[in-house]
Amino acid sequence: MKMHYCRKCRIYTLVETCKRCGSETIKPTPAKFSPPDTYGKYRRKLKMESR
Ligand SMILES: [Zn+2]
Repeated sequence: MKMHYCRKCRIYTLVETCKRCGSETIKPTPAKFSPPDTYGKYRRKLKMESR
């Protein structure tokens, strides 16, 4: 499967150049979608709100 993602339009496309805005699209990777640092902050925030 060959999927590309446009960060501007937030849509998935099959081409390297977005047809809507004309900007370069990226190949989304699972590692980039859930960085450990962001996850830690999110969990800490949840803990604080639950107290
Ligand atoms: Zn776009």
